[in-house]
Amino acid sequence: MQKTTIALTLSLLLSGCQLSPTHTVAADPASASSELKANQNFERFSNEFIDAMWQQFPESALWAGNDQYATVLEVPNAEKRAADAAFAHRYLAQLAQFKTQPLSANQRTDVALIENQLQSLLFEINELKSYQWNPANYNVAGSFAQILNSRSKTDLQKFEQVLARMTDVPAYYQAAKANISQPTKPHTELAIGQNQGAFSVFNDELLTQVDQSALSPEQKALFHQRFTASVTAIKDYIAFLTDLNSKLTEQNSRSFRLGEDLYEKKFALDIQSGYTAKQMYQKAMADKQQVLGKMHELTAQLWPKYFAKQPMPSDAQQATRQLIDHLSNKHVAANDFVSEIRQQIPTLEQFVRDHDLLTLDPNKPLVVRETPEYMRGFAGASISAPGPYDKAENTYYNVTPLDGMSDAQQQSYLKEYNHWILQVLNIHEAIPGHYAQLVYSNESPSLIKSLFGNGAMVEGWAVYSERMMLEQGYGNFEPELWLMYYKWNLRVICNTILDYSIHVLNLSEQQALDLLQNQAFQQQAEAQGKWRRATLSQVQLTSYYSGYREIYDFREQLKAEQGERFNLKAFHEQFLSYGSAPVKFVKQLMQ
Ligand code: ZN
Repeated sequence: MQKTTIALTLSLLLSGCQLSPTHTVAADPASASSELKANQNFERFSNEFIDAMWQQFPESALWAGNDQYATVLEVPNAEKRAADAAFAHRYLAQLAQFKTQPLSANQRTDVALIENQLQSLLFEINELKSYQWNPANYNVAGSFAQILNSRSKTDLQKFEQVLARMTDVPAYYQAAKANISQPTKPHTELAIGQNQGAFSVFNDELLTQVDQSALSPEQKALFHQRFTASVTAIKDYIAFLTDLNSKLTEQNSRSFRLGEDLYEKKFALDIQSGYTAKQMYQKAMADKQQVLGKMHELTAQLWPKYFAKQPMPSDAQQATRQLIDHLSNKHVAANDFVSEIRQQIPTLEQFVRDHDLLTLDPNKPLVVRETPEYMRGFAGASISAPGPYDKAENTYYNVTPLDGMSDAQQQSYLKEYNHWILQVLNIHEAIPGHYAQLVYSNESPSLIKSLFGNGAMVEGWAVYSERMMLEQGYGNFEPELWLMYYKWNLRVICNTILDYSIHVLNLSEQQALDLLQNQAFQQQAEAQGKWRRATLSQVQLTSYYSGYREIYDFREQLKAEQGERFNLKAFHEQFLSYGSAPVKFVKQLMQ
């Protein structure tokens, strides 16, 4: 029954492709019929591919909201990798036939996205091999929490799925231990912390709920047995990593730096931009100078307002730093951090509605919550959105409270996320940034685009929306807000510079902190956090700037071409309607 429902949903969604406005019908009846046939063939292929993909990657199915394989835990061993590689080769071969066929623009983009997805899979297995050096790849907690937090399942359904899914937890961690060779030190430490967080999911409270549930006595006994085996396996993995970590040195561990060759390849697959990583780095270097110039102008304008009796330092960078530092003292109290964010959301919604920037669906509420334990340790704020199969689920805005920090850390963090920057953060994460984009993405006519979301488009949209809101008058063109915005934008620019410089140019921690604190006005805690993040991830930090540049430049190009006919809301809604496809493909579809 479940299977039929999903297959039906898929075919309905995919047939939507043909009705999309960008579909062009050829004038010649013969070629029209051959195009129709090609479209139908591709539609069938897409259906089969997605079904096969869920079967091959049950974990991804679960995250996409497809419940069909929720009971299956993927055991990440060598056989699994061999099967994954065979899967990629099989579908790449099938995909090749469509490249010469008269597909619609929408479908051609889907072909490119599937191909990129399969190439990324092969790149990971054959070249990047993070399964060897990143122990944080292994953590079962997230998928179990995904099931337990579901709103669309009864407790009985959840517990039965968890019961079945726990079967392979020991085998999972056995495979993890066998895979790891020469891990990096930062990833080993991250894995220890995150797996300890797993006990916020595997806890006594869960057992109490199970004991009180409608599971049969036999099921309950089995649950306890598998629960104990799972907890033992997680503890054993943490002990294994702790021992390993104590023996890791600079010499015997792998460097977290990717190097130019792997970096360029990963950039090409992850960002799917028209530029190389090196070119994007050079663009960012040029933009950094431009933005600094604008900040120096605003500083000269604002200086008399805040330092009437003090002459402005002749060093523009120093003057700007002094002014930003002064303004940064305006921030919420540490205890109010989460509640202040919660309060700002309705104001942003109102502004977007009043200025006709985008239609927001009132049936898809955004829930602000404290970041769950097992997700902490990476970014301070993030969005968890439902996949295309579970559109009814909540979208969460995860905010990590500051109570885990020392007083000095809190102070530094709050100055960074001060009165003005906190508003820009909420635009970025929530409205009309990530939250709004992801709601649109789930409505996109192509399931392929919803599923293989492009990170640079997603982050680029969020960054674009910050500037767009300010340009439309959010904050009444207050120069302080613009100055802070430029500082924030400089951070996005520096993310690209930092990531490339660390992984390719061997930038040291000291040089990185100098770039962020002295050249980009960041507080110490933020700069240290960014260094840590850049050592744990690769390329992802460049996605913000790459996507933003491409979206903004495209909008300006359309404005110039269309003149008075240009409509901002229509541009936004059309741009978002194709799902999270790379900007270069959205451009093709819109032109
Ligand atoms: Zn973001």
